[in-house]
Amino acid sequence: MINFQYARANDVADAVRQIAADPTAKFIAGGTNLIDLMKYDVERPLRLIDITRLPLKTVEETAAGGLRIGALVPNSDLAYHPLIEQRYPLLSSAILAGASQQLRNMASTGGNLLQRTRCFYFYDTATPCNKREPGSGCSAIEGINRINAILGTSEACIATHPSDMCVALAALEATVHVAGPSGERAMAFADFHRLPGDTPQLDNNLQPNEIVTSVELPAKGFKANYSYLKIRDRLSYAFALVSVAAALELEGGRIKEARLALGGVAHKPWRKPEAEAALRGEAADEQSFAKAADLLLRDAKGFEHNAFKIGLARRAVVRTLTQAAKGTPQSQADKRVR
Ligand SMILES: Cc1cc2nc3c(=O)[nH]c(=O)nc-3n(C[C@H](O)[C@H](O)[C@H](O)COP(=O)(O)OP(=O)(O)OC[C@H]3O[C@@H](n4cnc5c(N)ncnc54)[C@H](O)[C@@H]3O)c2cc1C
Ligand code: SF4
Repeated sequence: MINFQYARANDVADAVRQIAADPTAKFIAGGTNLIDLMKYDVERPLRLIDITRLPLKTVEETAAGGLRIGALVPNSDLAYHPLIEQRYPLLSSAILAGASQQLRNMASTGGNLLQRTRCFYFYDTATPCNKREPGSGCSAIEGINRINAILGTSEACIATHPSDMCVALAALEATVHVAGPSGERAMAFADFHRLPGDTPQLDNNLQPNEIVTSVELPAKGFKANYSYLKIRDRLSYAFALVSVAAALELEGGRIKEARLALGGVAHKPWRKPEAEAALRGEAADEQSFAKAADLLLRDAKGFEHNAFKIGLARRAVVRTLTQAAKGTPQSQADKRVR
């Protein structure tokens, strides 16, 4: 039994004060990832700072025509929020493709961004893992790496980020707002998560004394032509082997703007500006989609058990873009299950 203290934060300033004062502390929101990690002895915070009473539970319109989502908005509330369903259905679909209804009821927006990898060895404290124990080695590179990354890997780590929601937020070009001892700052979503490099213990660019306060969506929601496709070993309640968020703006059968992000393949949602630029001005057909898929996956490198992901991702990109172009998003059916 490892003892830890429990404290509540009264407001954002208090939360920042408490986390800055104790480097062994961690925030707890829904607890759906952190508590598991503590039970597995992967994380050992000596103090939990409960942030669930902070006033960060609303979805508000911004002056720029977008939405600001509080960090404590539960995943379920966000997916079924009328403004999200109407204006950002890609985000709604991606959230509903993740976890289970019970987990989505507990999971928070901020916690979803900060959830940790599902690499088997990260959870197994009997094995070396550079992310859990820097410098100990990576068991996945020569081990069972079926669920691991094919893009942006390093010699130190080949883990993936497991979130579905974040893949849609990357495609929608959201902004993450954070608060720390020196005030507030904003990060483009693409800059929030990191690639492993030689510091795989760092999942993102949030400082240890900062809190995520909200995620902001820009005005453009791609509500007419979008699709989120998640491919996994089981039909529900499983993390993505590969997932694709695709959003198109069409004009006279041609692509005016395209967004494409992959999940389950890298340490962060994977985008490549060249792949999206290659679609601009092209016909919305299989040939253009295949070219974009090739560009997106150009640098992919498979390991012993996960090389299948390269072809799978390529086919998934073409299929998702085809669905987006037709305006028949696959994940609509999920919305009936509440
Ligand atoms: C069985 C299972 C299946 C799952 N399947 C999926 C899936 O298919 N797809 C998917 O996307 N997810 C899945 N999840 C993950 C789930 O979405 C995450 O566990 C959840 O989103 C985390 O949110 P939370 O509020 O519970 O975070 P917590 O567990 O409370 O916290 C997670 C981390 O975030 C930090 N944190 C939380 N909020 C903040 C904040 N505002 N600022 C700074 N730090 C913060 C905590 O300190 C902690 O380190 C699954 C989880 C489980 C247990
Ligand atoms: S891939 Fe990353 S998380 Fe998995 S064992 Fe290697 S270092 Fe650890």
